[in-house]
Amino acid sequence: MLTLKSSREIAAMRKAGLVVWEAHQVAAELVRPGITTGEIDRAVEDFFLQREVVPLFKGVPGKVPFPAVCCMSVNDEVVHGIPGSRVLREGDVISIDTGCRLKGWCGDSAYTHPVGQVAEDVQRLLDCTAGVLQLAIELMGSRNRWGDVAAEMATYVRDCGFTVVENFVGHGIGRNMHEDPQVPNFCSPSFRRNHDFELEPGLVIAVEPMVNMGTKKVRPLADHWTQSTADGQPSAHFEHTVAITEQGPLVLTAAPGADETSAPAGGLAAAGE
Ligand code: MG
Ligand code: MG
Repeated sequence: MLTLKSSREIAAMRKAGLVVWEAHQVAAELVRPGITTGEIDRAVEDFFLQREVVPLFKGVPGKVPFPAVCCMSVNDEVVHGIPGSRVLREGDVISIDTGCRLKGWCGDSAYTHPVGQVAEDVQRLLDCTAGVLQLAIELMGSRNRWGDVAAEMATYVRDCGFTVVENFVGHGIGRNMHEDPQVPNFCSPSFRRNHDFELEPGLVIAVEPMVNMGTKKVRPLADHWTQSTADGQPSAHFEHTVAITEQGPLVLTAAPGADETSAPAGGLAAAGE
């Protein structure tokens, strides 16, 4: 069941979203060749502890409970990578995805960062993914149904020469991290018929395009969490929690001061640094 949020509830979610934005600043500061993904995750965990918020990812049930406060997915890893002893190297890209609950309300967002200097086509992949998230946020102010936004997202990515991951989608968000509806980054006839939803004030969704350089197909790794591209080519992932208000879309996980509607998608520059 899809639950709409009141403007007071959206204001409370903005506070959670700001803490998520701050957590991303802590993480982004640390991204460099030589650091381990585990070290970055510990810094974010310390930050959440200090701010007395509840990390959303740690303990998420699965074959093994998710063990960290961030998902960190490097290069061909698409989403749900587990931070640990992996050392980042010059030319890598790392998707950092995290979320927290503050006073009962959730925020969720992700950025993909270049580690040092990355290849030109990899930078284009990051730019395309950040760009398609920004496009979706803007379109949420002018389209009536999500299917129309999703169809334009898919066209944008195709025109970049890349592919949209279809196995994973965005989601409604509120008191829980994952609520109805499902929010795909592409539009199939069956979605339009059976699952499409109206873009109306009070809707709050996490929009999170995952874009692959090669095949859209993904495969799970043996750790029960990490999803990689089937062909080993790189992937990128950006996410914001976005509310529709009477004044238009509002990015709840954007930088402080970005509370004007249709504001740019956030404090970090489009492609990370
Ligand atoms: Mg996320
Ligand atoms: Mg999410």
